[in-house]
Amino acid sequence: MINPKKLFILFAAILLLTGCKNKEPVSATAFVLNTVATITIYKFEGAGTPQTAIDEAFTLCGEYESRFSRTIPESEIAGINAAGGEAVPISQDTRELLMRSLEFCQLSGGAFDITLGGLSDLWNFTGANPHAPDAVAIAEALSHTGYGKLQIREEWASLADPETVIDLGGIAKGYIADRLGLFLREKGVSSGIIDLGGNILLIGGKPEGGGTKDFSVGIADPDYSSSGTLGVFSLQNKSIVTSGGYQRFFVENGKTYHHILDPKTGSSAESGLLSVTIVSDDSAEGDALSTACFVLGAEEGLRLIESLDGVEAVFIKEDGEAVYSSGIGASVKFDLQRS
Ligand code: AMP
Ligand code: MG
Repeated sequence: MINPKKLFILFAAILLLTGCKNKEPVSATAFVLNTVATITIYKFEGAGTPQTAIDEAFTLCGEYESRFSRTIPESEIAGINAAGGEAVPISQDTRELLMRSLEFCQLSGGAFDITLGGLSDLWNFTGANPHAPDAVAIAEALSHTGYGKLQIREEWASLADPETVIDLGGIAKGYIADRLGLFLREKGVSSGIIDLGGNILLIGGKPEGGGTKDFSVGIADPDYSSSGTLGVFSLQNKSIVTSGGYQRFFVENGKTYHHILDPKTGSSAESGLLSVTIVSDDSAEGDALSTACFVLGAEEGLRLIESLDGVEAVFIKEDGEAVYSSGIGASVKFDLQRS
């Protein structure tokens, strides 16, 4: 007959070895926000399992998407777009995201503009067979843009022009990454990576040998002649977001058209860049700034980045030259791998 006390100790030991000690990393991938997203947990000290935390994070992601997507008819954003200029009630989250978006519209002098939805619809980069629209159609769509047309009052939002269409595609992934990061931390995740289609948010650092190391995050080299990695960041607790013309594009009559639009012309931004990568604490900021800087170009974009605290950038120009903000290689470790 086994002594009950010994049995308890044995049971506790088994629990310690199996139940409490999770086999990490745990990773899962899902198609959300029109992209492939992966969440990986390296260290988890909460209740439940890391897998459950990831599942719940993806559910949360879906809830945000169903509020912010302009293509889901029931979303709050689609509601504002379809309201014919009437004021529409909005949730706290949608209000916060819209307010933050307007902040970056202003900060970028309009290079970032969340009212380009009509133009995005016209260009239809996600469609099966996209074509360059004619100049008249572009001019018509352009006449309904301008972030000044969006009004937010308390729990209400409205568009001064009933034809204006809000599109949060340039910032929503970053905002959602921040929210998922907070959620996972609250769940007990102290080390992990949220990757929403290349929009990356690092939680903590990478556990190694009882300590914590930097995560290595590579950025793609958008220069088609050298497929591979441009360089690798070594970072903890940071957001890394890249905007690139190579991410969504089509070629017509020898000309490449991509999804980042210049609010001045209504066509693909032609600022001489292939990509911009932003390193920041806040992913909504990184997302908005990467899109804005892509439109602004290296010179103006760099000026904007240098005027901000805690934000760094890598610009890749069409001629292949890489331009870095002052903290890259200093406060932000970056190993250039391109030959
Ligand atoms: P990103 O990949 O973050 O650079 O965002 C690109 C997406 O943002 C596009 O697919 C559009 O939905 C939207 N977008 C395009 N041009 C702009 C712009 N100038 N400002 C804000 N959003 C934009
Ligand atoms: Mg963006």
